[in-house]
Amino acid sequence: NTVIDAHNISKVYNKETIPVYAVNNVHLHIERGEFTALVGPSGSGKTTLLNLIGGLDKPDDGQVRINGLDITGLSADQLIDFRLKNIGFVFQSFNLIPVLTAKENVEFIMQLQGVERSKRDARVKQLFDQIEMADKLDSRPAQLSGGQQQRVAVARALATKPQFVLADEPTANLDSQSAANLLDIMAKLNKEEQITFLFSTHDQRVIDRARRVITLVDGKITSDTAAVSTKHGH
Ligand code: ADP
Ligand code: ADP
Repeated sequence: NTVIDAHNISKVYNKETIPVYAVNNVHLHIERGEFTALVGPSGSGKTTLLNLIGGLDKPDDGQVRINGLDITGLSADQLIDFRLKNIGFVFQSFNLIPVLTAKENVEFIMQLQGVERSKRDARVKQLFDQIEMADKLDSRPAQLSGGQQQRVAVARALATKPQFVLADEPTANLDSQSAANLLDIMAKLNKEEQITFLFSTHDQRVIDRARRVITLVDGKITSDTAAVSTKHGH
């Protein structure tokens, strides 16, 4: 069951001067339930690739299909709607809304989508149990540690039951203990709820937790552990 199918996608910056092939003819399939790390040196194109897959940016060439739908053909408005319904985003700087409580941050998109209050409450309760923060519903982001804020960001990403979650360097601003804790929670959600995660990282301890590791160098995929496991019949 293919969730993400990036077909020969490229993104070129500075086309008018000295072109930078941030993503250079990348082909990538992600199946439902995967837990995949995207690694590579700074500037190798990880953020650009995640932005293309997440419909935050359009490729100069190639197609991105999500559950079979070619999102490169959608208008800007259609893309916004598609992202809200289908993709969860987690950013390295958490990006919670400071004036809202943890619960309100998680509820926000559900409210926009007109989900009724009793259903929102039930979903919020379930998510805060899953991120092990049932006692922090009414805390504001500034009252939470970085690790706790990122767990709220994961809950927010999952609120509308997206097809998959994209996380760009989710542990970059966390200490080792908080990073390990975040990975525990992501791995648990992956295992128990079959949530598909694709995350970029520099952190070897995070890489070690991934089931599949894709390496990007100069905008190209130079290794993919899934290619190896396929040969062995996984
Ligand atoms: P990574 O996430 O692996 O650090 P990026 O996707 O941020 O890599 O960047 C890939 C390449 O594209 C780098 O050379 C970067 O400088 C360049 N780049 C990224 N965004 C832009 C942009 N908006 N304008 C011009 N160049 C960019
Ligand atoms: P990261 O390494 O975490 O991907 P960066 O600090 O490289 O983040 O980039 C932060 C932002 O700046 C991104 O939105 C990226 O698109 C943009 N950016 C990166 N490189 C360039 C560049 N050479 N010119 C213009 N914008 C850039």
